[in-house]
Amino acid sequence: MAPRATAPPHPQLLVFQPLRKRHCAVCRRGPLPLLVMEDGAPSCLDCADLAHLEFLPRGDTALTRRAREESALSVVVVRFNRRRSRYERQGVLVEEAALARAEQRCLADAEARRRRRARDARRRAVQDERFAEAFAAEIQRLFPGCPAGRARDIAAHASVRGSGRVGRSAAGRALTEGAVTSAVVASVRHLDTPYDRLLMSGVPRQEARRRIAAAVETVLRGWRAARGEAGAG
Ligand SMILES: [Zn+2]
Repeated sequence: MAPRATAPPHPQLLVFQPLRKRHCAVCRRGPLPLLVMEDGAPSCLDCADLAHLEFLPRGDTALTRRAREESALSVVVVRFNRRRSRYERQGVLVEEAALARAEQRCLADAEARRRRRARDARRRAVQDERFAEAFAAEIQRLFPGCPAGRARDIAAHASVRGSGRVGRSAAGRALTEGAVTSAVVASVRHLDTPYDRLLMSGVPRQEARRRIAAAVETVLRGWRAARGEAGAG
């Protein structure tokens, strides 16, 4: 007997995709897309009582595993690779109903993943909201004279996820004084000074910043003063 390079482990449970044209030794039909070897002779799936099975090509590991779990009878389909001198798995034959149940389980998984993503998004939204609240509170602590609505707007703007703004930076998340002050300064620059207009009229950024520096400092000084002191000053 000629030795085989790689003998299939369970010949009785294997179905072959033949490399050459083969006909069924029992009913003579052919050429056969799939065959079973019985007593050294090829047999079609009908004659081997396997024709009720459905072919599931390899590729989807979860679906394959579940289909085999669900199926009372499952058969591995192999094809001989001449170059590598070995049988390679092409897929499995499983009961149609088993495949349907396996597909259902995979869909249920996808649905569960979708629900989890939605829950995560809601959790992140709550975190963002809490973070913006903490940010606004810190603005009010450092700048007691800043109107509450303005502090909330600055905090919300700085906290937008994925914006790369100061609130999303490590310093911003830690609510350091520098990060909070940067967000306030940016807001004052744009809303309380002619900074944006200067930029639009072609004034270079550094020059524009220099021209508005005093105006920004005045607003910040007013906001830094406690409410009581602001009234006294
Ligand atoms: Zn046959």
